[in-house]
Amino acid sequence: MSVKIHPSVDNGVQQGSGHFTGGTLVCKCSDRPVKIGVKGDVAHNHACGCTKCWKPMGATFSVVAVVPRDNVTILENGDKLAVVDPSATIQRHACTVCGTHMFGRIENKSHPFYGLDFIHPELFEESGSAAPTFAAFVSSVIESGVNPDEMPAIRARLKELGLEPYDCLSPPLMDAIAAHVAKSKAAAAVAA
Ligand SMILES: [Zn+2]
Ligand SMILES: [Zn+2]
Repeated sequence: MSVKIHPSVDNGVQQGSGHFTGGTLVCKCSDRPVKIGVKGDVAHNHACGCTKCWKPMGATFSVVAVVPRDNVTILENGDKLAVVDPSATIQRHACTVCGTHMFGRIENKSHPFYGLDFIHPELFEESGSAAPTFAAFVSSVIESGVNPDEMPAIRARLKELGLEPYDCLSPPLMDAIAAHVAKSKAAAAVAA
């Protein structure tokens, strides 16, 4: 039996070139695909088990990374984009025809990740962007219908791929959130 994680890592994680200068994300439409330009390399690329991230057909996890929002531009067919859930913290701009999420943006300026857009590097036409390095929200795949009995095999496979499994975000990202919260509290105390 083989545990399926995501098509882009199931045959082994493709390492980044280390000098990726950006590329074009393309949706799955054959007619008038949405094209998004991204400048520079991606950061914090990871497999994500949450129920909100877009996944290709048959994948258990998404693969998602962040880039500065100022590095993201709509190049072509932006008229096909719409926000999946306007009430969500991350506004996921998806193609209304094929359903592919092209970029997720946070509009709340006090959010720890404000200024970063979430993108799916598998949509790049170009190869060489930074590889995924961990797996986040692993236990959440159960919410998408994975049998809890399969979790040990899924965690073992993630470790084998070098994608350390976490049930929240990675320690550096959890630290970044906590540091942001601590700073906001300190600022509130000064203002009070
Ligand atoms: Zn599309
Ligand atoms: Zn996710």
